[in-house]
Amino acid sequence: MADATFRFHAELNDFLPGNRRGVPFGHAFERRAAIKDVIESLGVPHTEVDVILAEGHSVGFDYILRDGDRIEVYPWSLAAPVPSPRHLRPRPPAVPRFVLDAHLGRLARYLRLLGFDCRYRNDATDGELAACADEEDRVLLTRDRPLLKRKRIRMAHFVRADDPWRQVEEVCDTLDLHGAFAPFTRCTRCNGRLVEVDKAAIIEQLEPLTKRYVDDFLQCEACGQVYWHGSHVAHMQALVARLRQGRASPAT
Ligand SMILES: [Zn+2]
Repeated sequence: MADATFRFHAELNDFLPGNRRGVPFGHAFERRAAIKDVIESLGVPHTEVDVILAEGHSVGFDYILRDGDRIEVYPWSLAAPVPSPRHLRPRPPAVPRFVLDAHLGRLARYLRLLGFDCRYRNDATDGELAACADEEDRVLLTRDRPLLKRKRIRMAHFVRADDPWRQVEEVCDTLDLHGAFAPFTRCTRCNGRLVEVDKAAIIEQLEPLTKRYVDDFLQCEACGQVYWHGSHVAHMQALVARLRQGRASPAT
């Protein structure tokens, strides 16, 4: 066995027990251990890690730990801990596409409302989620730590908040999405594209009051769901506006 000293920074401490947060602590490991495996064995998924310093030098996930190493581990952040570090976490595109685990259905609906392409099924297995993220270059959103440790997952965010509106705020802040909103372009039910539709084409589906007072409609290309600017949409528009200003609050 050998020993190294670890210190995790900022939100990476969310994954550690209280007595290890923000302080250096010793850890014994098998010789020839890759740093990625040791970091994950301590509870921190590789997808949350952006920069690792070993004795002050920026190293990759394949770095082999040495006896006596002092290791500093940093999350994704605008401020690099050293000049020109080796970034380990891939940068998602400006308009990312997502895949969400089975517990994040409301977050998926809210992100679709903002126009983001979200794959979501409430019966998706961990294997299917990992394959979808990998094959379609999607950012995985999940609250499942073991899932984040899968090798196929490259871009992901561990969702901390419990409340769905706090979750959407957290995702927008973390991935800097505020300039990428395209509200009411995507079906919240199935993720299909919304297109304008003539009232005459869908008039049979409308309730009497809607038929009488509403003239502008959108329809999902995939599932046929019809949307219009009624009171529900007005409420959502107000929430989108607040989110854009970085002042989201829970839906009432
Ligand atoms: Zn649809």
